[in-house]
Amino acid sequence: MGIKLAETAGFCMGVKRAVDMVLEIARNKGDKKVYTYGPIIHNPQTIELLRKRGVVPVDSIDEIQDGIVIIRAHGISPLEKKKIREKGVKIVDATCPRVASVQAIIRKHAALGYTIIIVGDKEHPEVASLLGYSSDGGTVINDKEDVNDLPLYDKVCVVAQTTQDSVRYKEITKEITQKFPEAIIFNTICDSTEKRQAEIKDLASEMDGIIIVGGGTARIHRDLP
Ligand code: SF4
Repeated sequence: MGIKLAETAGFCMGVKRAVDMVLEIARNKGDKKVYTYGPIIHNPQTIELLRKRGVVPVDSIDEIQDGIVIIRAHGISPLEKKKIREKGVKIVDATCPRVASVQAIIRKHAALGYTIIIVGDKEHPEVASLLGYSSDGGTVINDKEDVNDLPLYDKVCVVAQTTQDSVRYKEITKEITQKFPEAIIFNTICDSTEKRQAEIKDLASEMDGIIIVGGGTARIHRDLP
């Protein structure tokens, strides 16, 4: 039987970097408390492994007392960061550099008076963090129909949640440029997910079965499109 390991198997760059940072801190923490603000990644086994090494995920800033707080790969808003800093704890920022660069685009354009349109999932922690950089001049949309409901803004800057689908983003930004011809559009989609999906499709045509090892489940997929 032939077994082939996908080239894209494993964590993406941002998640690997964050997990490595947490493991390093856990190794050297001594008797300090270590928290991650929100789960560091969406993978219960990894969260459990980190918990066994003394790293506690917290969902509320009120749960943080003293010690070290690690900011997840999705990032957090400047306001949340300020509140954590006020606790007097040490902050280690494991925000993925690709997310950090979207934060920087938003911060810069919000300061220049642009309304920021974020194409993404309102409920996702990354989007919540991005919105926090827009100085209250931000709005989140998830569909091209949402464009109709937008007021007629003067200056518009558009970014995507890093894990958005690029075809959908293209459709939505096309709609946006029809309504706001001067809009500045950034392609902030990270290609990690797309590369994985493309490789799975290729492997599906070549292999009899595909085993995906991930957060909590391993499933065998057949007949992928
Ligand atoms: S932006 Fe890309 S590399 Fe960074 S955490 Fe998200 S998927 Fe991973």
